[in-house]
Amino acid sequence: MNKWFSYTVVFLMLSQNVSAQEKPYVKILFDNSPMPEAYYFSKVEHSGESKVKHIDGKLPVKENEAFTPQNALSVEYNSAKNGNWSVQILYDNVRGIDHFEFSNQLSFWLFVQDKETITSLPNISLMFDEGRLSNLISLKEFVQGNSEEWFQVKIPLGKFDSKINVKDIFGIKFTQGETTSKTNSFLIDQIEFTSEIPSQIIKNAPTLISAKGYEKHIDLSWEKVTDTLVKYVQILRKDTQNSQFKYIGIQSPWISGYTDFVGDSKNTFTYKISYLNKDYAKTSYSNTLSAQTKTMTDEELLDMIQEAHLRYYWEGAEPNSGLSLENIPGRTTMIATGASGFGMMAIVAGVHRNFISREEATDRLLKITRYLLKADRFHGTFPHFLDGETGKTVPFFGKRDNGADLVETSFLMQGLLTAKAFFDQKNSKEEEIRNNITQLWEAVEWDWFRQENSIDFLTWHWSPDQAWTIDHQLIGWNETMITYFLAIASPTHNVPASMYYSGWASRAKKAQDYRVNWGKTKDGSMYSNGNSYFNIKLPVGVSNGGPLFFTHYSYFGLDPHQLTDAYVNYFDNNQRISQINHQYAISNPENHKGYGDDFWGLSASDGPSRYSADEPNPENDHGKITPTAALSSFPYTPEASMKALKNFYRNYGDKWYGYYGFYDAMSLDSHWRSPLFMGLNQAPIVVMIENYRSQLIWKLFMSNEDVQKGLEKLNAQTKKVKQK
Ligand code: CA
Repeated sequence: MNKWFSYTVVFLMLSQNVSAQEKPYVKILFDNSPMPEAYYFSKVEHSGESKVKHIDGKLPVKENEAFTPQNALSVEYNSAKNGNWSVQILYDNVRGIDHFEFSNQLSFWLFVQDKETITSLPNISLMFDEGRLSNLISLKEFVQGNSEEWFQVKIPLGKFDSKINVKDIFGIKFTQGETTSKTNSFLIDQIEFTSEIPSQIIKNAPTLISAKGYEKHIDLSWEKVTDTLVKYVQILRKDTQNSQFKYIGIQSPWISGYTDFVGDSKNTFTYKISYLNKDYAKTSYSNTLSAQTKTMTDEELLDMIQEAHLRYYWEGAEPNSGLSLENIPGRTTMIATGASGFGMMAIVAGVHRNFISREEATDRLLKITRYLLKADRFHGTFPHFLDGETGKTVPFFGKRDNGADLVETSFLMQGLLTAKAFFDQKNSKEEEIRNNITQLWEAVEWDWFRQENSIDFLTWHWSPDQAWTIDHQLIGWNETMITYFLAIASPTHNVPASMYYSGWASRAKKAQDYRVNWGKTKDGSMYSNGNSYFNIKLPVGVSNGGPLFFTHYSYFGLDPHQLTDAYVNYFDNNQRISQINHQYAISNPENHKGYGDDFWGLSASDGPSRYSADEPNPENDHGKITPTAALSSFPYTPEASMKALKNFYRNYGDKWYGYYGFYDAMSLDSHWRSPLFMGLNQAPIVVMIENYRSQLIWKLFMSNEDVQKGLEKLNAQTKKVKQK
């Protein structure tokens, strides 16, 4: 299966330590299906003459007829004497959602057509890990409701088992109940584990701040929700043809807006919202606001995409630090340091495009840099994750990863050095930002990570109590070129430029073995490659180039046009890797749904079986497209990236496009779309589109004096290598 990974990705698959400050979530099995046909986290089985309607073994989704819009699940079945059926609805184990509120009941909402259906309702049991099932309960005994309206079913957890930890519940399973001669059906929605204690009434109504129309959607924003009684914000809409307001969606209270994908480009829509408490009692409505959809130029589309993806780092930031969360939804106080560096560059682009003011951004960077000066560091190096409230290390990926992460730190420093160049005015705030950044940058002991000058390679991690226990050396080609570059460029703790060749681009046996182990091929095992893929020659890269984030993470600030080593110029090489990725989707050897000229981009992202780094070869292509792959490649493949943008937005936006831009990934084969926005994947879109449009981030980072000196050192070293 998963053939090769850089360490970032391997670690993303592991989990999970708990921090005390985290806000608990309600454990929700189902609220809405991201895909409008079938629900990925379900499983339908039947035998004999019993039947359940399904799509590829999944439950069908009922759009526009739901307790909580946009949809509910439809269970349509025949319970025959000589047969049996079952339907499983499974928990989507989202990374970072690992703290749960107390609960003592299973709650869901049902809609049945007629009274007779109630007698034919199935049995229900809870599912635990390793396939263990709870007691079987007859559902009809808990039904107190009428046909043709939504009613709530509440079953005390004690009925299922004497002792249940809600964390261990894996799903629910319906099985055939009383046999009947006709087909029966019910809709089910909002399946969750709650407490029977009634909620208090929410006193205040919400306030809508803005409604803004784009080509096919309206973005709403509202005043940040501070009342902890709010479970959802419900959204209502009417259009010019329809004079009645219709309930169209829900939003979680931690996101202060909603993207309504209307799919229509010349219409006016009016909105109002209200809060729902955990018993679904609503407050009075907000003010109403209207907006109109309109056709948009390519430039306007780029603005729209940049602005939406920036929101993740601007509105969605961790509140104590102003830095980036790992993923939303997910841990609410856990900062990801590398993603935070990406976010800073997105903020700079956002000021340049007037999405946010310079003054607001200045205040944010002050907050960020002051916070970072007080946070945990090890030899000047940050850990992968910090707790927002305390600034302490969070060993989210396991006990061994409780110290310095040199690669994450290099991503963070790339962002800080860009911000230092941007905030160049002579006033006390901007001066403080620059001084803070200089302190942070000069404190990083890059040379420490050579393990006492004994080896040719930089090492990824260091732990204060377990030293080099992870012992992973950085060997290219992958996303870590920026780490070697900054280590060479450091004015205080630099490593010799020769390490670029002895470490990053090493041809030693250790390095060759490392690359072969990644790629399961000798292609690129010597760092340089030289083979052609889809008639595109690849000078440098393992296998046929790897996941596309390799061409992004190091090159947000570090301008690849200016980087030529003994083997290749990196703008040219990155362009070829992007073209190979694009051509792979066109050739589509695995026949994945949707793939083609305007539906492409394999990279590291969330997936149906969680995180994987996908690549343009059959062994590492799981059928999921990651929007950040094609959209962050604008500088390399502008035409193919623009085609992808238009197709993703216009034809898949209803499923894929949300308040923080595109959700992390989608697989049409599996009826799956990620529920996540990822800190590592949203900002690259903003930053690389900016580099495509104005080269702004490249210019800023490259203007730094230490960066310039680092480049000179590297060029001098390359000259020596070439002369040999
Ligand atoms: Ca729903």
